Amino acid sequence: MPTRLLAFLLLLVAGFAGVPAAAEAETIVVHAGRLIADAGRPAQGPSTITIVDGRIQSVTAGTDPAPQGARVIDLSSRTVLPGLIDAHVHFMSVPGSAYWREAVETDDYMTLVGAHNALTTLRAGFTTVRDLGSGGTTGFALKRAIDEGLIPGPRMLVSGTPLSTIGGHGDVAGFRPEVIAALDGHNTCTGADQCAARVRELARAGADVVKFMATGGVLSQGDRGLGQSFTDAEMRAIIDTAHMLGLKVAAHAHADEGIAAAVRAGVDSIEHGTFASPATIQLMRQRGTTLVPTLMAFVGIRERLGQHVYTPLVESKVRMTLEVVARAARLAHSAGVPVVFGTDAAVYDHGRNAGEFVELVERAGLTPAQAIASATTGAARLLGLQDEIGRIAPGMSADLIAVDGDPLADVRVLQQVRFVMVRGHVAD
Ligand SMILES: [Zn+2]
Repeated sequence: MPTRLLAFLLLLVAGFAGVPAAAEAETIVVHAGRLIADAGRPAQGPSTITIVDGRIQSVTAGTDPAPQGARVIDLSSRTVLPGLIDAHVHFMSVPGSAYWREAVETDDYMTLVGAHNALTTLRAGFTTVRDLGSGGTTGFALKRAIDEGLIPGPRMLVSGTPLSTIGGHGDVAGFRPEVIAALDGHNTCTGADQCAARVRELARAGADVVKFMATGGVLSQGDRGLGQSFTDAEMRAIIDTAHMLGLKVAAHAHADEGIAAAVRAGVDSIEHGTFASPATIQLMRQRGTTLVPTLMAFVGIRERLGQHVYTPLVESKVRMTLEVVARAARLAHSAGVPVVFGTDAAVYDHGRNAGEFVELVERAGLTPAQAIASATTGAARLLGLQDEIGRIAPGMSADLIAVDGDPLADVRVLQQVRFVMVRGHVAD
């Protein structure tokens, strides 16, 4: 008896040891009623997408029978399109927080808030985000936990703490000096050498992209308005150092002179771009600079006006910017400047990201197909991931979503995403 029991136990152990290897070669077959494989091309009718181990293996017309052992996902009543990309979010922040919360909330707590926001955003159909501003190592920790499959969330590209000038947008302000000293995020720099050093520190910490504040910000206390903050030489040092390390650079910028300076210094994308002049837009076109207009940020700000969320200083800047919302996006789009989907989630509620599609179509003049391209192929190009995400094609990551109706006729259907898959895993 003991011998037989031992043999049985051994079999059991061997069986368990054998299971994971066999189970890993998972095949999933998705039957799509309609397919937008590439937002730049016409939609296709019923299609079959075969996924092996999280990667798209084939895309064929019609409803192909699934191979034996494959898991079948029936989306035959829906439109399937690539997982959406938001090029500007802040998972570790929430809307309407008073500025002094910075002195209260710990990084540990904000990382957990970020995990919650990551899941909310994934469920809304966003399978990749670029997090352009989080404290300390919070963004890097969240990205790692998602990549390791410990918690669900979109693929993340993380900037860490944006670089700022002393007293500029992104530096600590609004407190007595000893509190400011205690809250210092070590993200300010003065002079080309120190700015280059800060970029290298961010790269060492794991940054996928570098963000700097080229001008003041709307929601910050006492950054002396919205004008240019870094000098031309400092901007060049940040951008050249990042590019040398293989990192792209995003510049937060509202005032025209700050936008133009960042573009001349070779920045990859202008975030917000609120007061960009026609001349600066032309410069962006010549230099191939992308605009990420973040129109949902202004929706979030408008909703909170007069609710005692903003200090009087902030409220006056808010009123200035609300007069020109989407002007830069409209100018850029008609001039042929790439406009990429980014929302500034955290200025409005996480999960409402798809509202940006409505803004881009109604205020900036993009067609629905162009708006969807801005959140798929266009955003993938800006992130340097055009061979991984943004299209449904063999070899690409299995990032896909499904909606009812036709998003090429009405982008509002993207606000009700019915199915989400990221890296071959169904989000629920
Ligand atoms: Zn932002």
